[in-house]
Amino acid sequence: MRGMNDSATAPRSVTAMTEDELAALFKGWGEPAFRATQLREFLFRKGVASYEGVTNISKKLRERLAAEAPLYELAYAGGTAGDDAHKWLWKARDGALIESVQIRVPGRLTSCLSSQVGCAMGCVFCATGLSGFERHLRASEILDEYLQMWGRSGEHSSHVVFMGMGEPLHNYDEVIKAIRVLNAPPPKGCGIGARRITISTVGIPPGIKRLAGEQLQLELAVSLHAPDDETRARLIPVSKRYPIKEVMESVREFSRKTRRMVTYEYVLLAGVNDSEAQARDLGGLLQDHPCKANLIPFNAVEGVPYKRPELEAQERFKAVLERFHVPTTIRFSKGRSVDAACGQLRRRSLA
Ligand code: SAH
Ligand code: SF4
Repeated sequence: MRGMNDSATAPRSVTAMTEDELAALFKGWGEPAFRATQLREFLFRKGVASYEGVTNISKKLRERLAAEAPLYELAYAGGTAGDDAHKWLWKARDGALIESVQIRVPGRLTSCLSSQVGCAMGCVFCATGLSGFERHLRASEILDEYLQMWGRSGEHSSHVVFMGMGEPLHNYDEVIKAIRVLNAPPPKGCGIGARRITISTVGIPPGIKRLAGEQLQLELAVSLHAPDDETRARLIPVSKRYPIKEVMESVREFSRKTRRMVTYEYVLLAGVNDSEAQARDLGGLLQDHPCKANLIPFNAVEGVPYKRPELEAQERFKAVLERFHVPTTIRFSKGRSVDAACGQLRRRSLA
């Protein structure tokens, strides 16, 4: 059983405090307020696993900090490293398990972050969707995922994608708050360019429209998974509320306002959404605005009846989209050796 712990009384982590709050804490200890900037700058520029690594602050002060203001909220709860992916598991103060992954492709390391514990959208092929919704993550917890992967691996990610557990636009405010810190230049944040931060959404038009007004040139990826509302509703229950037409209108607004090209994600499920006719319908939908398609061959999830199509069928689907002039990639599945598909490590550790 999950232990209820002292989350209400536990001291707040540095990642959960604003700079002013941290400065006030230092002042209360008789230290100069600029220690707050010093500490945050170090954290955001260097990436550290613990206070031991914060070498621009005296040992004595670090010891006091460790006891009264922990660096992070999340505790390390395990991980698995493969050649191209390193999966991390964290335990929140309320006992919730959260996963994140570092994914490597030549010349690039990407941090894949979770935005919620579980997910309320219930997509029928998704390990996270199957485990239901527990709660939203706080911005500080999201930031912790990024900073701790950096601090513990010693490797800095150039890119961030919200493709871990959860629907980021369902937890809009906290996700944007975390993104603003990830994006701000040090000492205010980690200095990751907005164009290197991707939000992947199941397709929630009000959220996409709101995002369009943020003055942030984020990358947007929209999980479409079917060219018609009927098939889509079978795979993504929440899409009954948001027809494809509405989703695409909001995407057009996003593209117009941000001048960013949007990516459509499409999980390929054999015999469900991978026929040539469906590829043609999808091509028809996507051909009239600048966008890319990213085909994701289904990753097996225990207890889920779907199968990934054969390579030939994947290539055929891609070729049809290209006939419609839609630039298309097939996502080479990273980190299968470490169970990197959405929600899988957590599911295993809860079993
Ligand atoms: N909630 C967001 C982001 C997290 S999931 C979204 O749905 O977009 C990131 C991507 O992984 C989505 O496109 C999702 O459909 C896909 N995905 C989920 N489970 C999968 C599985 N078992 N195999 C392949 N892709 C999967
Ligand atoms: Fe949630 Fe995305 Fe999984 Fe759907 S695919 S259940 S939206 S995490």
